[in-house]
Amino acid sequence: MPKLNLAIYWAAACGGCDVAILDLDEKILNVAEAANIVLWPIAMDYKYQDLSLLPKDSIDVCLFNGAVRNSEQKELAEILRERSRVMVAFGSCACFGGIPGLANFSNREGILKRVYKTSPTTVNHEGILPQAETAVPEGTLTLPAFMNRVYTLNQVVDVDYYLPGCPPPPDLIWTAVEAIVSGNLPPKGSVIAGTKSLCDTCQRVKEQKNLKGFVRPHEIIPDPEKCLLEQGLVCCGPATRDGCGHRCIKANMPCRGCFGPTGNIHDQGAKLVSALTSILQATTKEEARQAAETIVDAAGTFYRFGLPDALLQRVKRREQA
Ligand code: SF4
Ligand code: SF4
Ligand code: SF4
Repeated sequence: MPKLNLAIYWAAACGGCDVAILDLDEKILNVAEAANIVLWPIAMDYKYQDLSLLPKDSIDVCLFNGAVRNSEQKELAEILRERSRVMVAFGSCACFGGIPGLANFSNREGILKRVYKTSPTTVNHEGILPQAETAVPEGTLTLPAFMNRVYTLNQVVDVDYYLPGCPPPPDLIWTAVEAIVSGNLPPKGSVIAGTKSLCDTCQRVKEQKNLKGFVRPHEIIPDPEKCLLEQGLVCCGPATRDGCGHRCIKANMPCRGCFGPTGNIHDQGAKLVSALTSILQATTKEEARQAAETIVDAAGTFYRFGLPDALLQRVKRREQA
């Protein structure tokens, strides 16, 4: 069988998704046997021009990790899409915006002002901000333009498959690699993970449903047999897709929602609010307000991995249009 041409690219990412590929351990050798890696910035040097010269569809599969935050990342996504037969949104940042997507609670102007002018450690009396173009005697220096918001990969290019997780676990990466190598791919648009919610497959005992508020993981030592949510920890299991092998739950930590919503959930945060309110015992507005106040950074908790993809964001975009 001829070797596949594989490209791996990172945009607004932390590097964890690239490391997750290395976590395949000895199976990485099988990947090397099955594929020529034509692009992988974390491991090998490449130039823009090399990429631009590749013909259309010359890359069999592109694993694109990271969200899209600046003009360079958008351009690279477009170049790679044009040259790749299969485009995979790899990891939660590419799939839903991920942690970088939390920046969408602000905008370009707000972020630049905070980082370059008002943060406690900044001294910038002239109020200089980075510019996409700067004239110097030798010519014009350019930087990628910082966009007004963070985008998911499918908001800038067409995506064939989604491999969620922050980062995706090695067994799911291997499932995807095997499917790609064998040509036994699921229908376009599939999410390579479970179809149920994490709660549907969680073995913890669920019984009590009358909380007055929530606690943070450092405040209790949870019972390892019982549902974490019912012990007062904000566990995102009711609103999160199964498929990670219950990594956090097994470590006695609540799910943070990195696999994103299941197919029948329109908005992960809204679903989570609904799940949390259903176990709260609040009979007055005041009790409900007090219970809500026990969740530190509620918006950031409910939309930790999916703000750019959330209904909330779509309403905001419509208002700005
Ligand atoms: S999905 Fe997680 S591990 Fe991957 S780049 Fe984003 S933050 Fe890093
Ligand atoms: S809320 Fe969390 S701990 Fe409870 S059943 Fe769901 S996944 Fe398991
Ligand atoms: S338990 Fe939740 S946060 Fe942890 S890896 Fe699984 S989906 Fe991600």
